[in-house]
Amino acid sequence: MAVEFCSVCNKKHKATSWRTYAESGRLIHICDKYFKPVSVEHVPQSTKTDREKYAKSLLQPWREGTPSAEFIEAYPKQAAKMFTLKEKLKAKEVWKDSPNHKNWRKSK
Ligand SMILES: [Zn+2]
Repeated sequence: MAVEFCSVCNKKHKATSWRTYAESGRLIHICDKYFKPVSVEHVPQSTKTDREKYAKSLLQPWREGTPSAEFIEAYPKQAAKMFTLKEKLKAKEVWKDSPNHKNWRKSK
């Protein structure tokens, strides 16, 4: 959780993630209430295919502070070293809505 001055809410507040834009020569911060996850529409097809092909190796252990159940399933040994028991119990399938990761079980 970072505290930034939010240009949309027009005040300092906490948010899980922030976007920074340069507008008229100054930087503006926008909290996660006001942006959607990055669209994959602009990703070239080859990159997209690669990402799907290697989705498993691209799995990240965390998403916004929540441990990834997919990561734990894919890499149980690494996960055993990385996460505490408490963290494992909190783990969720955080990547199931991600176009890059949703088919990771079928990938490398
Ligand atoms: Zn805000």
